Amino acid sequence: MIEYEHLGNLNKPFEAEYKEKVEEFFRSGWYVLGRQVDAFERSFAAYCGSPYCIGVASGLDALILALRAYNFPSRSEILVPSNTYIATILSVLHCGLKPVLVEPDVATYNMDPSKIEQHITPRTRAIMVVHLYGKPCRMEDIMRIAHAGGLPVIEDCAQAHGALYKNRHVGTFGLGAYSFYPTKNLGALGDAGAIITDDESLNETFRSLRNYGSKVKYRNDLIGFNSRLDEIQAAFLSVKLNHLDRINAHKRMLAQIYLKELKPDFIKPSVSEDSYDVYHIFNIRHPRRDALKDFLLKHRIKTEIHYPIPPHRQQALQGIFDKDTYPISEEIHRTTLSLPISYGHTPEDIYQVVETINKF
Ligand SMILES: *Cc1c(COP(=O)(O)O)cnc(C)c1O
Repeated sequence: MIEYEHLGNLNKPFEAEYKEKVEEFFRSGWYVLGRQVDAFERSFAAYCGSPYCIGVASGLDALILALRAYNFPSRSEILVPSNTYIATILSVLHCGLKPVLVEPDVATYNMDPSKIEQHITPRTRAIMVVHLYGKPCRMEDIMRIAHAGGLPVIEDCAQAHGALYKNRHVGTFGLGAYSFYPTKNLGALGDAGAIITDDESLNETFRSLRNYGSKVKYRNDLIGFNSRLDEIQAAFLSVKLNHLDRINAHKRMLAQIYLKELKPDFIKPSVSEDSYDVYHIFNIRHPRRDALKDFLLKHRIKTEIHYPIPPHRQQALQGIFDKDTYPISEEIHRTTLSLPISYGHTPEDIYQVVETINKF
């Protein structure tokens, strides 16, 4: 059986280093917001080329805090992609704001810059983009539109650690929100997230917001959260960060095999000179997606669907969006299939997938 992903195998090469960190953690006797969080924040900021990194409890929290920091009036409109993991949209709703869905470019699956302006109204307050599947959005175009409208940009980088757009790290164009959920390219061994910013005053705000709105113990200046990056997860992340470039290079090497060897019946991810894609997910599209998934499973190859239900059709979001106006998102959700591509897979695994799938 070729697994879609096996987290135990994926983390095996780092186990000895993790164990040293656990020893260090026990010796320190400091469990919340200590040296491990501090060290990881510094190294992740340096890795991304960003002045500040603030560790938080999850990717969803990173997005919520990013929006909270701006104090937008309630019901302000935030542009978000119509095809994304639901967390992006939930962050807007949790802040009492109104998500406005923008359709993707069907070639990249990312927010289509040419469709942004038509959604900007006097109530629009920010643009939230997602570097979906590990492919950077066209950030120059997006930042130009944002600047023209005086709108801040929040980048959901949960699937794009280490991805570059024109040699610049995602998350450094606007405000970067990261998730370190275990399956992500930079994954912890539990929940974790972070925000990166080049703005000193936002940095201070995030440090306060994640810690009950407090900078000085028992003095609360903001209506804050308990959303601190866990000390032990930060320690694991520092270990993993040292290997992130190798993990991404491995996934890119596997992606090259798919790109080269898959027959043209399948729509493959687009490739652009402008971006360094990190293939958190390698998806293909096919009109008979469900039959293809069953066929592969019958041949002992596991796949996933990212995602089976478009956000605007989710039960939780009924009544928020007009059901019938997101045909591109629907088409992607109907036809997309994610193939195995992880640090735990070998080129031989991928050749085996290719050989099987090309018989479909
Ligand atoms: C994983 C993910 C999130 C949420 O991250 P959590 O750490 O699970 O809260 C948000 N947005 C996208 C695009 C994601 O893939």
